[in-house]
Amino acid sequence: MRVFAGGISTETNTFSPMPTGLRDYKIVRPGDEVESGTMTAFDQFESCTLERNWEYAFGLYAGAQPAGVTTRNTYEGLRDELLSRLQEAMPVDIVLLGLHGAMVADGYDDCETDIIQRVRKIVGPAAKIGVELDLHCDVTQSMIDTADAIVLYKEYPHTDVANRAADLFNIVADAAEGKTNPTMALFDCRMIGLYLTPNEPLRSLVDDLLAREGKDGILSISLVHCFPWGDVPTCGAQALAITDGDPQQAARVAEEVGRKFFAMRRELDQVPWSIEEALDKALAAASAPVVIADRADNAGGGAPSDSTFMLKAMLERGIDNAGLAMIWDPVAVQVAISGGAGANLDIRLGGKMGPMSGDPLDLNVIVAGIAEDMVQEWPQQGDPMRIPCGDSVCLHCNGIDIIVSSRRVQPFSPDVFTNFDIDVASKRILVVKSAQHFYAGYAPVASEIIYMAAPGAVAPRYTEIPFKRVDLHKYPWVDDPFA
Ligand SMILES: [Zn+2]
Repeated sequence: MRVFAGGISTETNTFSPMPTGLRDYKIVRPGDEVESGTMTAFDQFESCTLERNWEYAFGLYAGAQPAGVTTRNTYEGLRDELLSRLQEAMPVDIVLLGLHGAMVADGYDDCETDIIQRVRKIVGPAAKIGVELDLHCDVTQSMIDTADAIVLYKEYPHTDVANRAADLFNIVADAAEGKTNPTMALFDCRMIGLYLTPNEPLRSLVDDLLAREGKDGILSISLVHCFPWGDVPTCGAQALAITDGDPQQAARVAEEVGRKFFAMRRELDQVPWSIEEALDKALAAASAPVVIADRADNAGGGAPSDSTFMLKAMLERGIDNAGLAMIWDPVAVQVAISGGAGANLDIRLGGKMGPMSGDPLDLNVIVAGIAEDMVQEWPQQGDPMRIPCGDSVCLHCNGIDIIVSSRRVQPFSPDVFTNFDIDVASKRILVVKSAQHFYAGYAPVASEIIYMAAPGAVAPRYTEIPFKRVDLHKYPWVDDPFA
């Protein structure tokens, strides 16, 4: 068998003030040196292929940190390069695509469907196409009709990228060998939200899906969580089932699982706290450190990660013994590095990307630490991913350690503090600009986790998202859209 793999991936926040252009994509071509953390799915595809003594051809992978809509030239250029590499690799028996599922480009509401359809035209009806997606995606009927198997991450935080890549490989490989005949069905859950898989009741549902796979003709079951900050008509949660040759069973399983997911909607819909409420709660806590997630400014959801609303409130309330990570401000990093460790500087920090970021803060700070090419390790099932943050600094201001990075990235682990010798356990409050990916790293040290809704590009209260193109006959706009 001959396997081809490749993909283009980003999560598009259509409300973000920043376009996504060619320079925002890390592009990996065959033979390129790879920054760790970028190729997890493809490493898995490759090792599974080689284990079977099959031939593996890697085409191209391009991935960008979530931001606004990808420019048309960028998307079409990357897509055409991927397709031409597939053309060169022909004939192939299996195509494995590592995509996101919520990528929007100028002129393309749904880049993934476009890619899958064009791949099918090249490989013909006999080859098997498998697609791995982030669970923050929208799955379309055309994807289901065109691909042979689609498998999503099951965990949020996404700690199972490699495991799901292996699941996908096995399903598609068995199909290519004629052992199975995967058939897929979708069920529309008529809700929009962000769903945290470590928390009950969702934890038990995800565990139940994992337990059912590989038995009674069920090959795979995925929850399609949706990406709430993509204003495209397909936005919404779904359930996706793959069975062996039984489309009715696939439809039944998708509906059964989708209705269970929908029935949890009120429990899953945690209304986040305002800035003042979050700080009140944290200050009243009996033990420390309390971790406050500033979800609205999560770089991983396409936000600038330079908003100042929370830092301003903390300074105004005189909160000390606290840490905040990370403000994206390459100019401030450069100024701090020029000043050097220990320098006392007047610095203008954050608030540069527009009204969603608030005003810049003029602060007197001590440069408490400098970390060139800082890296953080993100805990995963298996090996941790190493995530680069670029040159970073710790600025100390009135008892708050503010971590500032030159690369726009969320804090996936306490490394962003410990790299500066900050003892996270001794802090009263740690603020992380992240929606949920911080969880695996911070839950073991946090006395409590508070989810906060500050202003920002990733508005955590769904009914405040300024949708224009989504049919909102869905929860939470309508309590029971099935009634
Ligand atoms: Zn995601």
